[in-house]
Amino acid sequence: MKRRIRIGLSLLLTGLISVASGCGSNQSVGSAVSTETEIDSEVSAEEATEAETETTGDLDPNRTGAKWIDSGLYGTFEGMGEIRLQDDFAAYINRDWAENVEIPDGASNASSRTELSRENDEKKMALLNGETKDDPELTAMQTFNALLMDWDTRNKQGMQELKPYIEDIQSISSISDLTAYYSDPERNLLGSAMIQFSIAPNQYDALHNLIYLESPMLFAGGESFFEEDNEYRQNIEDLVTYALEKTGYSEEDAKKTFDAAVAFEEGFMPSLMSFYDVQAEKGDSVLYNVYSAEDLDHLCSNIPVREIFKGLGYRVDGPFNVNIAEMLQYYDSVYTQDNLEAMKNWIIAHTAYEMMAYFDRESYEKKQSVENSYIGVDTLPPDKEYALNTIYGLIPGEIDKLFAEYCFNQEIKPQVAELVDLMMDYYREMLQTEDWLSAETRDAAIGKLDTMKLHICYPDELPDYSSLKIRSASEGGTVFEAVRAVKAFNAKSSNERLSIVNDGTLWGPDEHYSSLGAAYISSENSINIYAGICGGDYYDPDWPIEKKLGGLSFVVGHELTHAFDTDGSMYDKDGNYRDWWTAEDREAFDERRDKLVRYYSTLVPAPQISDEPYGEDGAKHIMAEAIADLGSMKCICSIADSMEDFDYELFFHQLGLIQKNARYEKAEIAYISTNVHPVECYRCNIPIQNQQQFLDTFGIKEGDGMYLAPEDRIGIW
Ligand SMILES: [Zn+2]
Repeated sequence: MKRRIRIGLSLLLTGLISVASGCGSNQSVGSAVSTETEIDSEVSAEEATEAETETTGDLDPNRTGAKWIDSGLYGTFEGMGEIRLQDDFAAYINRDWAENVEIPDGASNASSRTELSRENDEKKMALLNGETKDDPELTAMQTFNALLMDWDTRNKQGMQELKPYIEDIQSISSISDLTAYYSDPERNLLGSAMIQFSIAPNQYDALHNLIYLESPMLFAGGESFFEEDNEYRQNIEDLVTYALEKTGYSEEDAKKTFDAAVAFEEGFMPSLMSFYDVQAEKGDSVLYNVYSAEDLDHLCSNIPVREIFKGLGYRVDGPFNVNIAEMLQYYDSVYTQDNLEAMKNWIIAHTAYEMMAYFDRESYEKKQSVENSYIGVDTLPPDKEYALNTIYGLIPGEIDKLFAEYCFNQEIKPQVAELVDLMMDYYREMLQTEDWLSAETRDAAIGKLDTMKLHICYPDELPDYSSLKIRSASEGGTVFEAVRAVKAFNAKSSNERLSIVNDGTLWGPDEHYSSLGAAYISSENSINIYAGICGGDYYDPDWPIEKKLGGLSFVVGHELTHAFDTDGSMYDKDGNYRDWWTAEDREAFDERRDKLVRYYSTLVPAPQISDEPYGEDGAKHIMAEAIADLGSMKCICSIADSMEDFDYELFFHQLGLIQKNARYEKAEIAYISTNVHPVECYRCNIPIQNQQQFLDTFGIKEGDGMYLAPEDRIGIW
């Protein structure tokens, strides 16, 4: 049976600002930094449950990519006949691998990315579980790791440590009490006035950071959450009531608490839904609203937002960014004594939900299993992996640092820098030959390229984590205590960012350089090629140039192109949100973009599952990533052309290899409906079919599945 996949579901469901980042990353970007990485996306739970599945009609045999399959669908080759390279390059290249690969426990797919991630993770796990060294930072992380894996002790303690914190919230008796609670980092486990926030560069003054006040913490990402039988809501309810019962609630009281919390959240829906409408019409720039301290005080006359942040240890002289003023205004209007009980239930429900995974095995398994169910995973990762993932989720920078120091061949860093330089040189040439641009815009583009900051592998100066202390079990330490210590450390580091100048020296908190990623950060105008991606199918110091260009260079070019895609082109060389294009050039850009959108609109992302094409919304959802792939491909091909006896076959094989993928069907549906990248196999097929060198190398002609006529070719650059 074929299904309908609803593409481009709102990404505003778990963290409102993540949509602004256009981010296909598994890092919680949580900021307005335009970061993008090559990592597979974690799909938010509510998004995944909302992917529709219904039968549709037949496929048009003359459509774009009619001879392609989604070769990234796990098990898809079973019983399938011959596939010609000329018809579906990605499927042909990766078939052998796909037919033999196994998806590891706890994962939803296998790919070049997951293989290299695993390799990196093995090194990190060996370090965390290995011998102690004379390095207090490593010792702290080894201690944390040991605490996490000590299930006997954790099971004995249960969730008792959480109980006094819940009782503390229950004891709040007035609005001023509530403000005092919010302002006290010792009491307030969620670390804010139930407002999600991040610290990131000011969109209009990128040298300085400010606090982004995002949306209030809501379980509900949209109105469907309040419909009867909403699966996602049901799951949250099960988890919250379970956690509350473990801290002493009766079943009835736990349920009442959850219901009251959800009823309170429903009040936010009108302002949220009207925001979605405005955003759909005007784009993400609606999220950038800078308020002076006085303006913020004026906006929130009931909630003393600045006083609370000050109590939590932050610099509050402003300015601030208020992402959705209407939501904050609504929150302010209900911050009254009348709603005190509702708000207490709201805090209790979220606190229980956020913290429940840090106690005993049963609570962890319960929460993890629910999250896994959204992506079709029914296994849990081994303990060592669980511990690493937990630590990495809480304090990635420390693990990144240890990876750079102990797990990475440091000789690779200058080699990668050289590869980036080569790409930049050809990119400059490519921009110079874009005859559809006026000299004015072209010069500005080249100026942007020339001032781009290069973050290669890991920072020259690694940050200092020595003040983070983790007590071991023998010293009386627990996982809960360690989590709190880490959160306090993170808050302190975030606050320090409010006083620095973003000159590119200090890498941002989302630049997770031991993860398999690369990014263009528009607010810094920086290109980031992380240590974690410099291996596996992407890079090996001993490879011939063809493999390096087909591997890591493709990633480098992709990130470079993000500086000039639909999002990146809205930022200037200093990282400020400012249009530096002439009106005519912007129009020409939009025409090229529209042609690209038309191409992807008719493409069916997973014809084995669904007849549904990406459609216009789906195409717009992935266009920035598609532009980046196409721009990179063109740049690398121009390098290849300049080289004598270049082995194109080897080069194109490597390009196909880095997009190999095998993902469970449920996770593939979630990926298609939410991820900002096209499916992997099309990330291979489409950029290469746009290059004459590819068609020439493999003798591809009209009628072959990989053929694309010159007049139909796409790409901004
Ligand atoms: Zn990208």
